Amino acid sequence: MNSQELFEESKKIIPGGVSSPVRAFKPYPFFVAKGEGSHIYDVDGNSYVDHCLAYGPLILGHADKTVVSDLTNQLTMGTAYGAPTENEIKLSREVINRIPSAEMVRFTNSGTEATMSAIRIARGFTKRDKIVKFEGAYHGAHDYCLVKGGSGAACLPDSLGIPLDTTKNTLTVPFNDEEALTELIEKEGENIACIIMEVVMGNIGCVEPKDGYLEFLRKITEENGIVLIFDEVITGFRLATGGAQEYYGVTPDMTTLGKIVGGGLPMGAFCGKKEIMELVAPNGPVYQAGTFSGNPISVQAGLSTLKQLNNDFYTSLNKKGEFLRSNICDIVDELSLDISPVGLGSMFQIYFNPNEVTNYAEAQESDSERFLVYFRQLLKEGVFIPPSQFECNFISSAHKMEDLEKTVNAIRKSLKVAF
Ligand code: PLP
Repeated sequence: MNSQELFEESKKIIPGGVSSPVRAFKPYPFFVAKGEGSHIYDVDGNSYVDHCLAYGPLILGHADKTVVSDLTNQLTMGTAYGAPTENEIKLSREVINRIPSAEMVRFTNSGTEATMSAIRIARGFTKRDKIVKFEGAYHGAHDYCLVKGGSGAACLPDSLGIPLDTTKNTLTVPFNDEEALTELIEKEGENIACIIMEVVMGNIGCVEPKDGYLEFLRKITEENGIVLIFDEVITGFRLATGGAQEYYGVTPDMTTLGKIVGGGLPMGAFCGKKEIMELVAPNGPVYQAGTFSGNPISVQAGLSTLKQLNNDFYTSLNKKGEFLRSNICDIVDELSLDISPVGLGSMFQIYFNPNEVTNYAEAQESDSERFLVYFRQLLKEGVFIPPSQFECNFISSAHKMEDLEKTVNAIRKSLKVAF
């Protein structure tokens, strides 16, 4: 069956035909045959330079040889134990040695579980109920955070099925707005357990914090006894080995991880100051658990991946990012387009918006229809990016110069078609 036929079949038995909403682009998504290095292949015989990279985890590209070989070994020794392994300690050490805020770590099965657990612990630590998130930030699909969410939730930012009793405790403010947050904390500060934030907002495209904003957040949370949580599910091990907190030089109280930490397998983690992390069960009073947590396959994939991520790795990866971004800027100038390329490190995006985007409201003013024309043309040119400008595009170490040159040419052609 081809992708169109598979999608028809799929829709009959899987809601929307997909296992996660953002995958269901129109007229139908391609169905994947395999991934290899910088490329993803569909069942229709097409190949694409992949800049979606499973929405972030594949920093080494698809089916990295070392990861696959280590996993094959691990598979023969069992897939789940329900008992601890030495590799969990090794991976925890890797996390603690890299992420500045990490003194202790607990593994989960997804980024969603990581942020849900971190928020519960922050509530337990402060004995306060309210939390603050930023408009457009996405922290996973759990009830606490599906309020004004970005990413796939951008089309449904306030999901049905979540009790008002839950969301009344989730307060939102615009990103990069010191005044709005100061006002909120003046009013509600003593009831606020935590502020959870994407340091770079990858779920509304790619929005960086303004100069001084993270320092402001660090100060105001310390002054008010609020736990500062950096949700680094995207940026952890992506922007630098120590994530966005190393990149910007501001250390939160807790950090949530996902995507890259599992080396392409399902995994998340939360980490932070010892005095907070020690509240977690079994020794502490805050419950958190999972049948597959610390799963030996995911842990091995994480270990095999993190070991390859040294300073030289980031220098080389980020150079590829600079190459792509500077070429995109040149194309935008050459075609005299009033749109805004953005990005940093190995992350990039183009807002179909003439103005600088600093928050969710501004991102929403971008031209989504035209972006879809651009996205579809990129597919025709053999380049795969997420089907929305409220997602980020990525580069992996498997991308070669010839892949990036193909991407640049495809972007030029697709922008010409879109405008
Ligand atoms: N936090 C951020 C910043 C994310 O981007 C995501 C997913 O994209 C999550 C949390 C949820 O992670 P998962 O999809 O692994 O549950």
